[in-house]
Amino acid sequence: MERAGKVLVTGGGGFIGGHLVAELVRRGHSDIRVVDCKPYADWHQIFPQAENIRADLREFSACRNAARGARYVLNLAADMGGMGFIETHKAECMLSVLISTHMLMAAREAGVERLFYSSSACVYAAERQIVADVVALRESDAYPAMPEDGYGWEKLFSERMCRHFHEDFGLAARVARYHNVYGPHGTYDGGREKAPAAICRKVIAAKLSGSGEIEIWGDGLQTRSFMYVDDCITGTLLILDSDEAEPLNLGSDRLVTINQLVDIAEALGGVKLRRHYNLSAPKGVRGRNSDNTLINERLGWAPSTSLEAGLEKTYRWIYDQMTGGLRKAS
Ligand code: NAD
Repeated sequence: MERAGKVLVTGGGGFIGGHLVAELVRRGHSDIRVVDCKPYADWHQIFPQAENIRADLREFSACRNAARGARYVLNLAADMGGMGFIETHKAECMLSVLISTHMLMAAREAGVERLFYSSSACVYAAERQIVADVVALRESDAYPAMPEDGYGWEKLFSERMCRHFHEDFGLAARVARYHNVYGPHGTYDGGREKAPAAICRKVIAAKLSGSGEIEIWGDGLQTRSFMYVDDCITGTLLILDSDEAEPLNLGSDRLVTINQLVDIAEALGGVKLRRHYNLSAPKGVRGRNSDNTLINERLGWAPSTSLEAGLEKTYRWIYDQMTGGLRKAS
């Protein structure tokens, strides 16, 4: 990815998009356009060096304006959240297909050199994720398809569309399947937060209130892998630059239980809490891990930040937000 030329980041007001813009600025890109539909006050990070635009990218006209003059497009905009959100907002998640479709059409029309699309581990078939001690997911496991209902189907369809825009129209599209990304500047309350941020928030809240208790969704034995956001950004830019036309997993391959995640957060907070397991809360799949064979093979790289190191930075950031009065802790 050369520094010359306009880079469009959609969803740049969001968690990962904000970190991506930060990295592009750091790498010396001087022509960056960032588009997001949220009010500027709600953007996770905002950079005066970039052209920051508010627009609803479900509209084709907005995608056209956004793509005009762009050399590279990183399409991260999507209506999404953690399990608590995607299990209860399936139609809204699926409507992100308007963003993916119109962005691909606009990128093609604008003669964009390369487009990156952020897909998800939610494209993988639920039946491969029914035990905690799960076999890590290889890219080929996405077919035959039976992804997460709603959100996962939209992602799988959109990554498929990237493939065909490449094959039929010559638009160089690159796709990563992100697995659970966490880090500072992420959503930690309000209903869209994911497990690492939610657990940090709950541990901090228990510490501050002295309640000594924590509620955990599910029985705590379900497993996941969690990728620190810096690894996500490094991988995203490597994949964009690569010749890899097939979707690649971008995630950590260290499988942990939710209980182990809580152990780490408790150690950071210097507390030990009584755990209450809410078995009727949204839980998602039983186990999910990333098989990193392909990314290692193709890029000679894979995420490596330890969960302890990444969670420490995340915990500190959330603690500052909750105690600095910048945002409310629920
Ligand atoms: P995020 O919700 O923080 O960011 C997405 C941004 O897209 C938001 O700021 C939102 O306002 C914006 N957006 C939504 N609809 C829009 C519209 N119609 N027009 C313009 N902007 C719109 O989420 P994130 O965690 O930063 O995720 C970024 C991308 O990565 C998404 O595509 C998501 O599906 C994908 N992904 C994320 C994870 C993860 O763990 N965070 C995992 C898998 C995939």
